[in-house]
Amino acid sequence: MSTAEVFTGSFTQQEPISEAGIAAALAVLRHGRLHRYNTVPGETAEAALLEVEFAAFTGAKYCLAVASGGYAMGCALRACGMAPGDPVLTNAFTLAPVPGAIAAAGGRPVFVEITADLVIDFADLEAQAKASGAKLLLLSHMRGHVCDMEALMAFCARLGVTVIEDCAHTMGAEWRGIASGRHGTVACYSTQTYKHMNSGEGGLLITDDPQIAAKMVLLSGSYMLYGKHPAAPEPEVFEAIKLDIPNVSGRMDNLRAAILRPQIAMLAERRQRWAALYQTLEAGLQATPGLRLIPRPEEEAYVGSSFQFLLPDWEEPRIVALLAAAAARGVELKWFGAGDPVAFTSRYVHWRYAGAQSCPQTDRILAGLIDLRLPLTFSPEDAAQIARILRAEVLRIGQADEVEAATAPQVQ
Ligand SMILES: *Cc1c(COP(=O)(O)O)cnc(C)c1O
Repeated sequence: MSTAEVFTGSFTQQEPISEAGIAAALAVLRHGRLHRYNTVPGETAEAALLEVEFAAFTGAKYCLAVASGGYAMGCALRACGMAPGDPVLTNAFTLAPVPGAIAAAGGRPVFVEITADLVIDFADLEAQAKASGAKLLLLSHMRGHVCDMEALMAFCARLGVTVIEDCAHTMGAEWRGIASGRHGTVACYSTQTYKHMNSGEGGLLITDDPQIAAKMVLLSGSYMLYGKHPAAPEPEVFEAIKLDIPNVSGRMDNLRAAILRPQIAMLAERRQRWAALYQTLEAGLQATPGLRLIPRPEEEAYVGSSFQFLLPDWEEPRIVALLAAAAARGVELKWFGAGDPVAFTSRYVHWRYAGAQSCPQTDRILAGLIDLRLPLTFSPEDAAQIARILRAEVLRIGQADEVEAATAPQVQ
């Protein structure tokens, strides 16, 4: 063991902000007009320009920049007509901000099973939609795994369910050549540091529906300044509803928008670099006994910013031993099956406010689901080394007759 190679990179270190982003941020700091509605005559705010540019990037008619991905989801739910107490369908495999956004908007999360390929299970979606009467699905493309979107949209149309997409992990991804987020009625993105564009915190919303777009702008805290939104519908749409929509402030500021604008053009190249890391790791773990890779459908152009694999039927002590052994060799793994929530990783049974719900199929999958980040500060050589370490430890610990008691390491 003492001669075993150890990985020394940081799983939480993202790339720095580009010089173009730094220059744009400094310009905003120097003029001091950080609030998006604080403009001089003839000026279009950075936040408004970001909306125009992100709408163009996705092909959507309308775009709104907001304070976070979580805010985006709550805003979308309200604008799609969610009333207090309404059930909202969502994948049982997602992250805490998703059910949190539903609860914050006064809704009731109804969890839907996932398949072993980590996407929503259509049969359970139908069962839960019928049992709950839910008319909204907040579909989380969790860890970038996208279900068959044409089939899902046809299925939801039949069920009378409106689809809101959580694209926190699919910004820049595509399904059959269509930008992720362009299938549902609304799509929500996050620009938090760990996502595909980094402004610390931030969110984006897109839609083609003028009523929903106007409601979201009003909700976000636009006062009567909706005329300062070039990526929003015509003023007439606002005039009809402006007294009916509460102001729930969650605007994006010009500093964040300035940092984000140059990053839109970088998404395609980032997707390629992430693919190189992802595919290197995938190749290095291929045919490892005891380990199941997640198949990626051909239709999906994914952004490989994280990597998942399954250890089907591994008992808890063996998984905990693997986490500890990998951590000792510098490889930070997250486990979705842990009894207690750890750092960013929790699962539906930990969201007690949503009420007790049971998703036995998802429980079985998450019990063996391992997850790791792939920041772009890693090189393909780093990914190859991580794969070598993981493969060796999965083989060693997977095949040991007995495993020593270990405690799971705490990772970010
Ligand atoms: C990060 C994330 C969000 C949004 O998070 P914010 O931190 O509020 O921007 C939503 N869904 C998933 C799956 C996420 O990982």
